[in-house]
Amino acid sequence: MYPCDLAPTYVRAIAPYQPGKPITELAREMGLNEADIVKLASNENPLGVSPRALAAMTCALNDLALYPDGNGFELKAAIAAKLGVEMAGIVLGNGSNDVLELVARAFLAPGTSAVYSQHAFAVYPLVTQATGAVGIETPAREFGHDLAAMRAAIRDDTRVVFIANPNNPTGTLLATDALHAFLKSVPAQVVVVLDEAYGEFLAASQQAPSVAWLAEFPNLVLTRTFSKAYGLAGLRVGYALASADVAGLLNRVRQPFNVNTLALLGATAALNDVEFLAESKRVNDAGMAQMLQGFQALGLDHIDSFGNFVCVKVGSPQRPAGAVFQALLKCGVIVRPVANYGMPDYLRVSIGLPEQNARFLSVLADILQEIPVPA
Ligand SMILES: *Cc1c(COP(=O)(O)O)cnc(C)c1O
Repeated sequence: MYPCDLAPTYVRAIAPYQPGKPITELAREMGLNEADIVKLASNENPLGVSPRALAAMTCALNDLALYPDGNGFELKAAIAAKLGVEMAGIVLGNGSNDVLELVARAFLAPGTSAVYSQHAFAVYPLVTQATGAVGIETPAREFGHDLAAMRAAIRDDTRVVFIANPNNPTGTLLATDALHAFLKSVPAQVVVVLDEAYGEFLAASQQAPSVAWLAEFPNLVLTRTFSKAYGLAGLRVGYALASADVAGLLNRVRQPFNVNTLALLGATAALNDVEFLAESKRVNDAGMAQMLQGFQALGLDHIDSFGNFVCVKVGSPQRPAGAVFQALLKCGVIVRPVANYGMPDYLRVSIGLPEQNARFLSVLADILQEIPVPA
C-alpha cells in the first residue's frame, strides 16, 4: 500500500513553490560568510523591521504561553479604523498567502475553475490546484494582465479570478478605470481577488480606490500584507478585506489561531508607523532609479515596475538567464530566476539599500563581461 499513490491526482501534479534562496543556505553551499551575502530575491524590506513593531513584540515575549486572540480583535480594530471598513469584513492570515488559500478553500472544489494571468503570482495556480479545481491561465499583454482575455475566460464553472496589482514578478500596474470596468463586467457570483501586496509602494495618484469598491462589489476580495512595505515577512501576517458574508465564509475554513501573538502585536504597531512606511517608499524609489540607471549603463532591457523589485533581461537563447543567476550566486548575490514564470530571459531583483544595489550592479557588470550578450 503506497499512500502517496492514493493522494488525489491534482495534489500529486502540483509543482512545488520555489522560494528565494536563504542566505544561510548559500553560505553553506559556497563556503561564504553570511555577512558578505546580498539577498535581493524575495522582495523583502531592506530597512528591516519597523522600530514600533519591534518594541511591541519585545514586550510580549513573556506572554507566549497563552494562545493568541483567535479573532485578532486589536489588529482588526486598527485596520478598520485606518481604512474605514467594518471589522466583520476583515480576515487575518498567516501572511496574505494564507488568505489566498482560504479563498481557494472556501470557493473552489473539483468541477469549478479559477482564472489568473500568465506571469502572475505563482501562488494562484498552487492554491487552485490544491482544491482540485481547474486553473485557467490567460495570456499576458506586455507582461501584464489582459483584462479582456480574463473576462472572456470566465466560464459557468468559474468561481474565482485572481489579479495581482502591482503584479509579481513583472511589476506591472493596471489602470484604475480599466480595473473598475472589469469588476463591473464580472458576473456577480464570481469572486475577484485583488492582491495588493505592493500597494504601499505606489504614489497616491496611482492607487485604485479599491476599499471604496468593496461597497459596490460584494464579490470583491482585497488582500494585503505586512511582508513587504511593513518589513515583517518573517512574522507572517496579512489580511483580506471583503463583504461580511464572504469574510464569514473565509473564517470558517481558517485555522482558529492562524496568526500568532507576536504577529498580531507587531502588525498592529506597524500599521500606523507612517514614518517607517514613508521611509520604505523613499528608499525604494531611490533604489529603483539606481537600478534602472545601472541597467541602462549596461545596455539591459527591463520591465517597468511599480513594486519593490524589477525584472531585467540578461538572457538570450545563447545565454540563459539561469547561467547569470548561478554566476551571481558564486559571488554571493542572490536574485530570483523567473523561468518558472515563463520568463527564461529575465531575472527578478528586489530593490535593496544603495550599497546592496551597487554591489549587485557591479557584480552583474563583471559577469556580463565574461559571458557577453550575443547579438
Ligand atoms: C509577496 C506577495 C504576497 C504576500 O505574501 P505573504 O504571504 O503576505 O508574505 C502576496 N501576493 C503577492 C503578489 C506577493 O508578491
